[in-house]
Amino acid sequence: MSRVLITGAGPAGLTAAYELSKLGLRPTVLEADDQVGGLSRTVNYRGYRFDIGGHRFFSKVPLINELWDEILREDFLVRPRLSRIYYRERFFDYPLKAANALAGLGPVEAFLIGLSYTKARLFPHAEETNFEQWVSNRFGDRLYQIFFKTYTEKVWGIPCAEISADWAAQRIKNLSLREAIRSALLGSGRAADGQIITTLIEQFNYPRFGPGMMWERCKDLLAARGHETVGGVRVERVRHRHGRVECVYGRTSAGELAEFGAEHFISTMPLRELIHALDPPPPDEVIEAANRLRYRDYLTVVLIVKREAVFPDNWIYIHAPEVKMGRIQNYKNWSPEMVPDPSRTSLGLEYFLWEKDEEWRWPHERLIELGVKECVRIGLADPSEVEDGTVVRMKKAYPVYDQHYHESLAVIRNYLESFSNLQTVGRNGLHRYNNQDHSMLTAVYAARNIAGEQNDVWSVNTEMEYHEEARVKEGSSGSMGDRLTPSRVEPVAVPDTVPDELIEAVFAKLDPVALGTALGAVGAIILFLASAALIIKGGDVIGPNLSLLGHYLIGFNVTWAGAFLGAGEAGAGGFALGYLVAWLRNWLLAAYAYLARRRAEAKAQRDLLDKI
Ligand SMILES: Cc1cc2nc3c(=O)[nH]c(=O)nc-3n(C[C@H](O)[C@H](O)[C@H](O)COP(=O)(O)OP(=O)(O)OC[C@H]3O[C@@H](n4cnc5c(N)ncnc54)[C@H](O)[C@@H]3O)c2cc1C
Repeated sequence: MSRVLITGAGPAGLTAAYELSKLGLRPTVLEADDQVGGLSRTVNYRGYRFDIGGHRFFSKVPLINELWDEILREDFLVRPRLSRIYYRERFFDYPLKAANALAGLGPVEAFLIGLSYTKARLFPHAEETNFEQWVSNRFGDRLYQIFFKTYTEKVWGIPCAEISADWAAQRIKNLSLREAIRSALLGSGRAADGQIITTLIEQFNYPRFGPGMMWERCKDLLAARGHETVGGVRVERVRHRHGRVECVYGRTSAGELAEFGAEHFISTMPLRELIHALDPPPPDEVIEAANRLRYRDYLTVVLIVKREAVFPDNWIYIHAPEVKMGRIQNYKNWSPEMVPDPSRTSLGLEYFLWEKDEEWRWPHERLIELGVKECVRIGLADPSEVEDGTVVRMKKAYPVYDQHYHESLAVIRNYLESFSNLQTVGRNGLHRYNNQDHSMLTAVYAARNIAGEQNDVWSVNTEMEYHEEARVKEGSSGSMGDRLTPSRVEPVAVPDTVPDELIEAVFAKLDPVALGTALGAVGAIILFLASAALIIKGGDVIGPNLSLLGHYLIGFNVTWAGAFLGAGEAGAGGFALGYLVAWLRNWLLAAYAYLARRRAEAKAQRDLLDKI
């Protein structure tokens, strides 16, 4: 049985171990912290539980949904989503709703937004290499300035024009015609099989005691199968020879360096750290590429407020430039069990920083003071109501997609591929802006590679389609009204009732010349044969009814000359009719496909802020 050493007990590391245990291999996980879950951990402060940013569980990858169910079972809740944007001292529903946005912004602003949107559609930026161009091409410059620019720059800490458009394109795929049509057909909100179509935007799964519960449970399941997760060991050195990793050295909490050997290695530690840990070191160009990778750091200030309900949202995006916080979470609205006392509310104020920022080094008291001041400023709480608070810092929370990361990543990846027994997975392990599901999927693939499969972990979340529609069985316990009942939010890309071939057949173009020729030929032949039959039959008045066609076909009568003339004219008329019908049908279908695509894209972009 091969031994596999995994660095990091976040979702990716633990998933890799879980999958390896199923495959009959022997995983051991080394974790620098004394808690598992990585960025998806749940911190417990005096019984108040909170996430690093509020973790929704949603995926359209069936394998991942099955894994979550298998690990958490009845403790996996379906939760409704409510979120708003705070901007210009007002709250706007998010995803945006036309009437609500109009009421908040006023008719003049709404008109200007409309103008700027029209301009963007008619004269888009020719290039879409950065986030600013990408968003303003889709929403217009004015809407971009109001609803995207400030928040995005708070999160990423760099101007939108310096953020690569990659992540937007990665998270919001261009839809194929097939997907667009299907999505349009779903518009009524009800599929033929009687299931209510809802969206993963409107509800999500969440563990009863926060995301960390999933990963604590996973660790326990591993332990029950005899696989260890060793906490408090930070991997500092990765010794290798002839393209194979031999062992890693981890610094224990007691400050000692311990050696861990295995046949295979999986790393979820940030790529930059991994490259620096390699012994002997890689070539200079690889080290320089690693040094160019950037990470955004994250800090949350949690305030315990003496009030049963502060606001109804799960979270609020704070676009107001006058405060530093970017988002605010209300954890009891994620799950009521996140607070030990129902008369209290815990708010998580989120600050996106660089480690070098002075706020990063501020003591807890000063950060809590800032948090209280900012809550007061936006009218959410009174200082006298805040009875306690704490701060959690998370380094390297976001792998930054600047204009150079792609190139640097290619150099690192190329070098790492020279190792035969080392794979890197997860979010920072691939420097990819992945949610849990994709981080986990890369881990499953890596585990299976060790068992003999050949999966490309780097292709996850770049080549996979990403839909966000879900269905919940009608009458199931997961309906929106039933906030706390365990159930599944099932992803569905498309209704099963419309097969691909049908869409392709219906939307195939008709050839106007072919249809014209066919109709023309049929018309000419029928008229000629009808005339000929009547002439041969003879009589006093030959073909009195057919000769009425003379009103429409110039010079036509039921004679041999008239038959030839009429056939020619019927042929020409049939051709024109067929040509026109085919052209019109093509045009109408193209217009329908265009509208369906626009609608589906708008739907896919409806929750763009969630993806920032
Ligand atoms: C603010 C925020 C909100 C998010 N919201 C969502 C959401 O709503 N839904 C969702 O699905 N995802 C969300 N995510 C993303 C999700 O957190 C990540 O996709 C996921 O945690 C990545 O898992 P991972 O195991 O790859 O990495 P991590 O979670 O970063 O885990 C890596 C682990 O490795 C350990 N480690 C690092 N270096 C070493 C070392 N040298 N030695 C030993 N151990 C080491 C770390 O301590 C950590 O425990 C969010 C992330 C953030 C920052």
